[in-house]
Amino acid sequence: MNEDLSFILNHLGEDREQGYNAVVPPIVQSGNFTYATVAEMRNTVQHELDRPLYTRGYNPTVAMVRKKIAALEHAEDALMFSSGSAAIAAAVLSFVKTGDHIVCVNKPYSWTKKLLVELLARFGVDHTFVDGTDAENFRKAIRPNTTFIITESPNSLTFELQDLKAVAGIAKEHGIITLCDNSYNSPLFQNPIDLGIHMAAHSATKYLNGHSDVVAGVLAGSAVHMRQVMSRELMTLGAAPSPHDAWLLMRGLRTLELRVNRSADSAEVVSRFLEAHPKVKRVLWPGLESHPQHALAKEQMKRVAGLMTIELDAPDEAAVERFCDNLPSFLMAVSWGGYESLQWPVCALKGPNGYYTDLPFSMVRLYVGLEDPQLLIRDLQNALTRM
Ligand SMILES: *Cc1c(COP(=O)(O)O)cnc(C)c1O
Repeated sequence: MNEDLSFILNHLGEDREQGYNAVVPPIVQSGNFTYATVAEMRNTVQHELDRPLYTRGYNPTVAMVRKKIAALEHAEDALMFSSGSAAIAAAVLSFVKTGDHIVCVNKPYSWTKKLLVELLARFGVDHTFVDGTDAENFRKAIRPNTTFIITESPNSLTFELQDLKAVAGIAKEHGIITLCDNSYNSPLFQNPIDLGIHMAAHSATKYLNGHSDVVAGVLAGSAVHMRQVMSRELMTLGAAPSPHDAWLLMRGLRTLELRVNRSADSAEVVSRFLEAHPKVKRVLWPGLESHPQHALAKEQMKRVAGLMTIELDAPDEAAVERFCDNLPSFLMAVSWGGYESLQWPVCALKGPNGYYTDLPFSMVRLYVGLEDPQLLIRDLQNALTRM
């Protein structure tokens, strides 16, 4: 156990004396807060982002989570949002204006892509997607009006990495603000801010909460940046989290270290089984020596997490369906990062209202949860036979 880490997850910021000395902090499920005097209220209004006035701005339960996330990401401050997408959108919106240009890694999270293509484009903010496996591609895409760079290393479907230190260096030469969607790694396996990236965002729906019962997001960065995002995008767009979700997230964080390490340990075993199987064409997982960016993964990440994609050696979509329909220990669902193993067949998400029309039909994303890896392997073996 890492001493600092265990302190952050179990104690930091909890101010137990403020809540009857209860071991578990109470949920301050209140939208507003009251004052005894005009002077007190006037004073609080002047500091509405730092003191309890109205829960969209400041809530004591949410504040506990913010302190923990800032400490986990080695940042001065952090914000919590009602979803990961809200955190990412608020961060990007805060640093661009009409006429600006954004450089974004290829194949980011689907709604990050839509933020650029469908929302910001309407307001005259342009973008370029680049192959992030060579950091120089970011430099080549920079224009005089580029103000923001979005990274996601690795992405959560095809697992390409970006050299974050190199990208951050290039951005700083040009005075460009950088963001990394760090959801895949959790703050335990990678800290983008240590590599020079300005802000780290997470879908807290995934590893941070870890129990598939909350949708939430977080953003970490400098005090100045967080204050800007909070006073403008968080307060005006209003994607603030509920105190109850913050409390559930804090409960999830208690076991973060145990969960992500278990998931990563099992992913190692499962990925090696799959790679050796004749009916599996490819396993995309940066922890394998066969991954084209394995060396960068070892350098930049402490460990590789429990999400991977396989490409089946399947003759047709019917065979892929036979594999997926006979894999009961991997629940068929979107999302990942909870206790339960999941499968997410690309062929189920194609179509006019779907996603990822350019990916092979035989790709299946697998999330390795907390079950015994031998159970998962037995099930995979059986499904591959039935395929
Ligand atoms: C899920 C996810 C998001 C979006 O987060 P929500 O909490 O669903 O809004 C963003 N990035 C990655 C990598 C994700 O997996």
